[in-house]
Amino acid sequence: MVAYDSANASQHDRDHHLHPFTDFAEYAATGGRIYSGAEHIYIHDNNGNKLLDGMSGLWCTNLGYSQTRIVDAVTEQLHRLPYYNSFFNCTNDAAAQMAADLVAYLPDGFDHVFFTNSGSEANDTNIRLVHRYFDLLDQPNKKHIISRENAYHGSTIAAASLGGMSDMHKQFLQLPYVHHVMQPHAFKLADGESDEAFGLRAAQAVADKIDELGAENVAAFIGEPIQGAGGVVIPPDSYWPAVAKILKERDVLFISDEVICGFGRTGQRFGCQHFGVEPDLITFAKGVTNGYQPLGGVALSNKVANVLTHEGGEFAHGFTYSGHPAACAAGIATLAIYVEEETATQVHNDLAPYWAKRMGELKDHAIVGQTRTTGLLGAIELVRDRESKVRLDEDGKAALVCRNAAIESGLMVRAVGDTIISAPPLVSTKEDLDILFERLTKALDHTASTYGINAN
Ligand code: PLP
Repeated sequence: MVAYDSANASQHDRDHHLHPFTDFAEYAATGGRIYSGAEHIYIHDNNGNKLLDGMSGLWCTNLGYSQTRIVDAVTEQLHRLPYYNSFFNCTNDAAAQMAADLVAYLPDGFDHVFFTNSGSEANDTNIRLVHRYFDLLDQPNKKHIISRENAYHGSTIAAASLGGMSDMHKQFLQLPYVHHVMQPHAFKLADGESDEAFGLRAAQAVADKIDELGAENVAAFIGEPIQGAGGVVIPPDSYWPAVAKILKERDVLFISDEVICGFGRTGQRFGCQHFGVEPDLITFAKGVTNGYQPLGGVALSNKVANVLTHEGGEFAHGFTYSGHPAACAAGIATLAIYVEEETATQVHNDLAPYWAKRMGELKDHAIVGQTRTTGLLGAIELVRDRESKVRLDEDGKAALVCRNAAIESGLMVRAVGDTIISAPPLVSTKEDLDILFERLTKALDHTASTYGINAN
């Protein structure tokens, strides 16, 4: 074994570690930042820098980095029963408890869960579940699945096929039964079209695709209540109710991918509740364990579960670590905190209005074309001209300039094309958010001056 040496960690990483969503050659040449500590909502790198984590890790550390209750629960579980599987009529007590606790936390009418290790595997599982559901109902032609452009549903081949990221599709043969329709992104509306009309037009695209394929051939539609990785795309209020109605009328199952929007992020327990719609299946991961252990899964409405559980026959699918006891112990402790501290309500009543107000103030900045928020999700569109919405540059790199400047000033945010996005932990205080906006404003000023624009 190579002895751990923090001074050499950066070199070890460059020499041996291939990172997700990273240019390998560039990383080997330049290296990156190594994080080796954290507390509350601040992450510490090896060079002694302390950054405010405006992305909750990868949208997962909703409760921040100092939750000893979760750490203790995992430790206790690892001492008592570090592993046992849930195949072949076996289980472990943590998985059983977690399933019951999650059902209690879920919207009414969701009494069953299937565990995976990640959101990607959960969405892969969704495909198996919806296909089996219609097979059992003697509708074997119902196999097609509709998703949206720019969606992110994970990175297994099935999950990436469901996603609408064109760069990912170039890597492999897209699943032939997955189709994509427009995303409800209203930033560049056609002249004179209202948000509400646009939302209905985007919903109609779902109806049109189902009708084109024939409802008798379509099993499901999948969507993030708010597209996260695609740029925190918040649909107009008219969108989700219209989509839900279209799906119901055509007997197409509705999968709500709540990997980001779940567990209080929108100010409700789940994003579908924020938009007032009732899906048939819910994908969860990330915040379910506060990111402390890998756990994901699918929650099944009783409509779907009743068919799958009553018809019998083996569901030939699962993972060695489905229902891993340590991950479930983390989940049990995390859910207990969400419930006891009423995290979603706190976000809704207290933090989200402040977040929206502070984000709204950025609209006066010379290079900000739009800000949008829901709960503790936020996006800032960077532009050269606020009227015409012309971007700062044609290469779509302005947000990267801004993101790098934010990191320099002690703030982690994310760049998506010309958009800066942020999703700070739900345990942030208003003082933390003030620090976030102070650093973000500095980064916006730096970006403006990089592109020759006077920010003042
Ligand atoms: N679904 C959504 C909405 C996501 O944002 C993500 C990850 O960011 C996933 C699925 C995939 O989750 P994982 O990375 O745990 O596989």
